[in-house]
Amino acid sequence: MTDTRYQYIDGEWIEGDSDDEMTVRNPAVPDDPLATFPRADREQTRNAVDVATEASEAWEETTPDERDSLLYDIADLIDDNVDELAQTLTKEEGKALSSSRGEVSRAAEIFRFFASYARTATGETIPSSDPDTFTYTIREPLGTVALVTPWNFPIATPSWKLATALVTGNTVVFKPSSQTPMIAKQLVELLERAGVPDGVVNLVVGSGSTVGDELTTNDGIDGISFTGSTGVGRQIAQAAADRGIPIQTEMGGKNPQVVLPDADIEDAADAAIGGAFGLTGQACTATSRLIVHEDVIDELTDAVVERAESLSVGPGMDDPDMGPAVSEEQDETNFDYIDIAKEAGATLLTGGTRPDGLESGYYIEPTVFTDVTSDMRIAQEEVFGPVLSIMEASDFDEAIEIANDVEFGLSSSVFTADMASARRFANAIEAGVVKVNGATTGSQIQMPFGGMKASSSETQKEMGQTAYEFYTHEKAVYRTDP
Ligand code: NAD
Repeated sequence: MTDTRYQYIDGEWIEGDSDDEMTVRNPAVPDDPLATFPRADREQTRNAVDVATEASEAWEETTPDERDSLLYDIADLIDDNVDELAQTLTKEEGKALSSSRGEVSRAAEIFRFFASYARTATGETIPSSDPDTFTYTIREPLGTVALVTPWNFPIATPSWKLATALVTGNTVVFKPSSQTPMIAKQLVELLERAGVPDGVVNLVVGSGSTVGDELTTNDGIDGISFTGSTGVGRQIAQAAADRGIPIQTEMGGKNPQVVLPDADIEDAADAAIGGAFGLTGQACTATSRLIVHEDVIDELTDAVVERAESLSVGPGMDDPDMGPAVSEEQDETNFDYIDIAKEAGATLLTGGTRPDGLESGYYIEPTVFTDVTSDMRIAQEEVFGPVLSIMEASDFDEAIEIANDVEFGLSSSVFTADMASARRFANAIEAGVVKVNGATTGSQIQMPFGGMKASSSETQKEMGQTAYEFYTHEKAVYRTDP
């Protein structure tokens, strides 16, 4: 019999207390459920918060050496189990197996990167105006933090939140997406094996409206780090504001790739394809608008369509270029937006249907529209699927105007041979991530990650050299010796 204990509270694996069951499906074979188990309820979530709060004092007192060696052990265990983790990820989320392996390895790298912060993340000594007073800052953990995560990077995103929260001395209640609880369970099992003390990390699997809501409103939670959609993120930010606790929300995107007339068109086409269709368009940084100078739009459009039509689509376990959409709901959303774009007058160049022979999973062909303008919903709303809109601009200024004419501001890219144009783009674009001659997708662990506008609460960035700041209080100390 399969193990139905998905809740990890105070070092024990237990069943959810709710009467509701959750079924996890493989989006490549939805009729064959992977797991069914009871969800956690509100009371169980409260219990997890209480347990994490009780564990706080002892965890905060652990030495930097203890914390860094624990994080290195977690990284090693993730690496040792890369095959098993990648297979679970692909079965549950649908992405191609090589992408899953890449994500799992990145999770290990993340734990290693943040391990070093146990010994180095610290306050500052600041010159004092008074020679008898020593002025410095110290950083202390927030206490117990809630980590609420989406399904699209179901091991990398929890890892960068968990690693940073733990290394700074916080205890955690982790709520993964209901689409991807299996990989979350396996990750927490590895944390347990590495020796994370009881109560320090707790996993609560259940719905956003009960478990998620309890975590965002519970008085025992001292900070919330959320990644997900803008609608939910704003709701959580509002609840956190009412309680006056720190909040980090990284949310949706509508990311532009701008192509200027002096760009390398082959490189620009490769980047657009990778950015729009890699991970089935289910990356928050996915390219959804290709904004092209009128002089090169025909050439680039031909190159993009040719490449899109050559992509393989199929079950993630066969390692195709593109796997299925994650869920029935996302599948419906993808096809809804095809209709919305057509009705608004966009021209479908390729895709827009389910590929032949793949009727049973949530598949869609890589889809490219042209004649898209900013007043259309397809140019404004996040689809979160493999749908690319080509938009024409007559010059640099118009390209920037189109690129910025959305509520989101997560990632962006410009293709040009002229570094003065690249610099102007980097200054004018309203986005937290800017790529020059690179895809909107992809990021480096040591670089800060996060958006602007409706893509982020812009409190503190994730990843990078200062990601730990979110998880700490900063105190300014004035010490005058007697
Ligand atoms: P989602 O907002 O539906 O869910 C995210 C998490 O919030 C899940 O764990 C969910 O159960 C929980 N949740 C839902 N309702 C809640 C509530 N009322 N209270 C508390 N928690 C609640 O997002 P999703 O569908 O899982 O993920 C896709 C979205 O995430 C896209 O919009 C994508 O752009 C975004 N995303 C952003 C980033 C980024 O770094 N900016 C990264 C990945 C994904």
